[in-house]
Amino acid sequence: MIFETRCAGCDKPGSAICTTCRFALVGPPPRDQAHGVIAAVPFTGRARSIVLGMKYRNRRAVGRHLAGLIVNRLVAQHAHHGIDVVTWAPTSARRRRERGFDQGELLARSVARQLGVPCRRLLERDASPSQTGRSRAERLDDAPRFDARPGIDGAQVLVVDDVVTTGSTLRSAAAALEERGAVTRLATVASTPDSRSATVLAFRRRGASHAA
Ligand SMILES: [Zn+2]
Repeated sequence: MIFETRCAGCDKPGSAICTTCRFALVGPPPRDQAHGVIAAVPFTGRARSIVLGMKYRNRRAVGRHLAGLIVNRLVAQHAHHGIDVVTWAPTSARRRRERGFDQGELLARSVARQLGVPCRRLLERDASPSQTGRSRAERLDDAPRFDARPGIDGAQVLVVDDVVTTGSTLRSAAAALEERGAVTRLATVASTPDSRSATVLAFRRRGASHAA
């Protein structure tokens, strides 16, 4: 039986990401980075297909390419200097079981290799319900919590993930690392285009509870 390689972005046979899709992934960064996360591309069109497609096939090849987009964006923003270690915000045990791998880990390992720095599992996730299928407001109120390993005092840690929406997961991961004395930088492949409205919503909600 022959397993044909098909493009994760457009399903064309031939390579893990075809030339057209590769070009579609080159462009300016997402306009809104108010969540404080460096994102390589907007989570729309082909970028969205490729990130989602990575879950199903050609994981390594697609992961390497997407990790390269993160590295390029870090370099373009002069944010690649001084990174001591790369890590990721682990997905829930249930999602890891469903997929058989952790997308964030795969990307973090590839980013670390390309930057020439170590990749370490520094975070453990507290058992909490999955974020999938919940409204944005619910997610904001209920970000996952992480515990960071000791021994990272003063380290510059890059936390890598696939997609940022509200940034709450990455901020929660950063908070755990910073509690141990680390300095954090956050980077993802893609950013959802409506992250600005999510930020405004978070601000309003915070304002409302403050007034109450
Ligand atoms: Zn394609």
